[in-house]
Amino acid sequence: MNAWAGKILVVDLTTRESTCVPTGDYSNTWLGGKGIDLALLLAAECWQADPFSPENRLVFGTGPLTGTLAPAASRVHVGARSPATGLCGSSNIGGQFGPELKYAGYDHLVIKGAASEPVVLVIDDDSVKIQPAQELWGLGVSKTEAALAAHYGSDFRFFIIGPGGENQVRFAGIRSGTFNSASRTGMGAVMGSKNLKAIAVQGSKAISVAQPERFYDVCQRARREILESPCYENMLNVPKMLRGSTHTGYFSYGNKESIVTPIEETISKAEDFLAAHRVGKAACFSCPLRCQDVFEVPGSGRLGMQCDPRVEFNYMTQVDDPTFAWRAYVICQEVGLDTTSIANVLGFVNEALKAGDLSWEQLTKDVNVSGKDRAELFLALITAIAERKGIGDLLAEGVARAGKELGPSFEQRAMHRDGLELAVPEPRTHLGLALAYSVSERGDYLSGFPIFEMVGGEAGRAMAADAFGDGQIANNAADRQTLTDKEHVQTYMENMAATADMLGVCRWMTPTNGAPIKEDTLAELLTEAVGETYTGDDLWSYASRCRKAFFEFDGNCRREKEKQLLPERLFQPVSSDEGQVAGINKKDLIATISRYKKVRGL
Ligand code: SF4
Repeated sequence: MNAWAGKILVVDLTTRESTCVPTGDYSNTWLGGKGIDLALLLAAECWQADPFSPENRLVFGTGPLTGTLAPAASRVHVGARSPATGLCGSSNIGGQFGPELKYAGYDHLVIKGAASEPVVLVIDDDSVKIQPAQELWGLGVSKTEAALAAHYGSDFRFFIIGPGGENQVRFAGIRSGTFNSASRTGMGAVMGSKNLKAIAVQGSKAISVAQPERFYDVCQRARREILESPCYENMLNVPKMLRGSTHTGYFSYGNKESIVTPIEETISKAEDFLAAHRVGKAACFSCPLRCQDVFEVPGSGRLGMQCDPRVEFNYMTQVDDPTFAWRAYVICQEVGLDTTSIANVLGFVNEALKAGDLSWEQLTKDVNVSGKDRAELFLALITAIAERKGIGDLLAEGVARAGKELGPSFEQRAMHRDGLELAVPEPRTHLGLALAYSVSERGDYLSGFPIFEMVGGEAGRAMAADAFGDGQIANNAADRQTLTDKEHVQTYMENMAATADMLGVCRWMTPTNGAPIKEDTLAELLTEAVGETYTGDDLWSYASRCRKAFFEFDGNCRREKEKQLLPERLFQPVSSDEGQVAGINKKDLIATISRYKKVRGL
């Protein structure tokens, strides 16, 4: 079987047995990566499982291009029924683990059951062992990784959970290396519920491609296109790129209480902090984009970062200090928590503290905070959440559940969709985001990221014209203040993202990130790798099937639960530097959701 490794490894942690299933049983219909993961979760009827029960399955999926010379061929999709949303959880991680899993001979890894005590799953080519890991339980991610590397050797690659995952914080992620993370929808918490502290993998097998020379040529052409694109330039200076977005009202301030007001001094301060500590760039396996910045900050060692923590931590907590944002980021990486969710949770706490609905005493009971500094409180709360100490135990449930528990005024302040905390991008100033937050699989906006309106103006319109041709759709796609035609943007972005996620390459090299690699090039890569002809339209069909599978899974989960619209606050006007910004028009949004479903055939 060219391109695919050919096997799906199924490990039962309860019985400690492992078996293999041919990937070919699934790949014709579901291609790979996210597609096959969804099929595996549906086939096992995981929508019926309590997310923390042994019946839930945790699936890891590479794609047919993962581990090949294709650009950014590093990705692994991670899925399970999500403890955050109760729907289909979905996350994605780069680094080196995915290629290594394929070199060990496996396209997918399915974890079922649960171990009776902490374990590490060790995959060394055909050898699959479940080893005790009691001494690692409670350790942070970097210490765990160092211990595993010392024990198994530095040729192994690891997926690791921190204390957040061990304690089943509903927004705990899975980490790998110094900068990769499958953060959203609580996949680390599912791993923790199975007592699985880490997965170690090493492989020595080759991945064959059908037409090596032609495949190499397409890879080289794609690389050149990436290196010559404006997106590559943007990746060289992420803070500068984000500066532009700050000026378009792209970021919320506080708990979606207002829009960030760009203050030159504040932005410069954050940029200066990052510039002073940046020591280089890094990349996942085979990626020319190198979107990772590597920083060395005294006291926190060397750590990679894909974005700028300021936009989440400084803006959502209203603590205007880049050092605070960096420290918050470092703690999250170490305890294994999703930075987006945690920044939202801290914004929720901050608003309640300002309103006097939560007192300093309530927040600090059993939480170790010195003094009365809000930044220190928030940093201490991150650890308390990971360890479920004091009020951290309630906040570890996420804002939707915590809001319900604390009472109506808190419930109104819970900024989430279906239990997943909303991110900092602002849907009242960028209406495509309102649709993306409302309908995207898993509960956040990323799979429908409306980059055309984020870029905006003539540049955004030109990008949209590339996708939709010159005309009304392209004009509307670049217009932040209309919902007209945004169903087409959502569908296009979803298809592009799903295609990348199924092939096992990074969606950041596609138009979802303003980069040049489109479905036709991806189809060429797949064709030469597999030795069968695929077109861009074929990939779009797989992507649509994948979207429908999410819809089916979520529909099964939702039987007794009404689908939620966005929080009521987002339908109200909000203040910004420009004065008032109108809230999202609810009727328009509902109509756009209907049009989207029609386009999608859902
Ligand atoms: S674009 Fe960034 S996240 Fe994606 S594969 Fe490259 S380095 Fe990794």
